[in-house]
Amino acid sequence: MNQTDPRPVVPELSVIIPVYNEEAGLGALFSRLYPALDALGTSYEVIFINDGSRDRSAALLAEQFRARPDTTRVILLNGNYGQHMAILAGFEQSRGEIVVTLDADLQNPPEEIGKLCSKMREGFDYVGTIRMQRQDSLWRRKASLAMNRLRERITRIKMTDQGCMLRAYSRHIIDTINRCGEINTFIPALAYTFAQNPVEIEVAHEERFAGESKYSFYSLIRLNFDLVTGFSVVPLQWLSFIGVILSMGSAGLFVLLLIRRFIIGAEVQGVFTLFAITFFMLGVIIFALGLLGEYIGRIYQQVRARPRYLVQTILEQREGDPMPPPRQPAGQGAQGMHGGQSTHSAQAISADQGPSK
Ligand code: UDP
Ligand code: MG
Repeated sequence: MNQTDPRPVVPELSVIIPVYNEEAGLGALFSRLYPALDALGTSYEVIFINDGSRDRSAALLAEQFRARPDTTRVILLNGNYGQHMAILAGFEQSRGEIVVTLDADLQNPPEEIGKLCSKMREGFDYVGTIRMQRQDSLWRRKASLAMNRLRERITRIKMTDQGCMLRAYSRHIIDTINRCGEINTFIPALAYTFAQNPVEIEVAHEERFAGESKYSFYSLIRLNFDLVTGFSVVPLQWLSFIGVILSMGSAGLFVLLLIRRFIIGAEVQGVFTLFAITFFMLGVIIFALGLLGEYIGRIYQQVRARPRYLVQTILEQREGDPMPPPRQPAGQGAQGMHGGQSTHSAQAISADQGPSK
């Protein structure tokens, strides 16, 4: 893919930043991010993805693009697709050998990117992070802890701190993710499944610089459902297990009640026990239906195979290229990859299949 790119130099580092209604903090982000990256002494590109912000974020990003067109690229999505989808849009446009994701709210200091890069150069292909002294509300920390534990039990993904988005991935992992076509996904977990040599390091964590968390209670629950159902069928297996135990239990109870009826006689109070049991079973059935619905919903979304998002515009500098740019909007880009533009990509696909198994 890089050979056809009109820009002569492929940067070593791509920094992917999703932005959703972050106008209050973007100025501070620019003023810390660029000096931090310049200090690394390597070639880099910063890719901002505006995830359908309703404030002035898009205008601020365009302004920054004009100020640093050599290292800045801006993708404007035409709606709000969520943080992880925005990052996927960034991945599809990224070219660096090392790809780092970062939040726009300065909770993870951009000065830490250098640490991630040097770990990557040591030969690791996935650098995960653990937040030292996480600066979030108590309930968020407790809820994350519980979710981390649950995930650890039901998936094979080993992450100490799944919520920290400041992470580095190798080109190989990014190319594999780009071929996935996932819709509801959780990027650190998805990337982990393709990593051959992962490592974790500690990074600093700060309070949000400005604005509020873009995750409501509801969207956090949704995200965790994505994590659980997207990477594991264990809940479904639990379900059938619980179903078997329950039906065996209730059959036993029925026999017991029957015998009791013949020996002691019918007891009026027993009706209420039966009521209680029935209601309990009803609850279980409804829960089971809901869980099945989660999976069916995913199958439905996947089989529709719609473009995952539509890019409105890409602001980036192209040198000496009078032809229209060869890069396609991201939604179609995924198909282009599967279609195989060259023998190069076909080889890459066959060579990449090993680790995903
Ligand atoms: N974000 C996004 N789309 C969304 C929600 C969030 O692109 O629908 C971005 C947001 O601008 C920020 C990052 O994702 O750069 C993380 O969001 P936030 O800081 O609100 O999450 P938290 O730190 O509370 O988990
Ligand atoms: Mg944040």
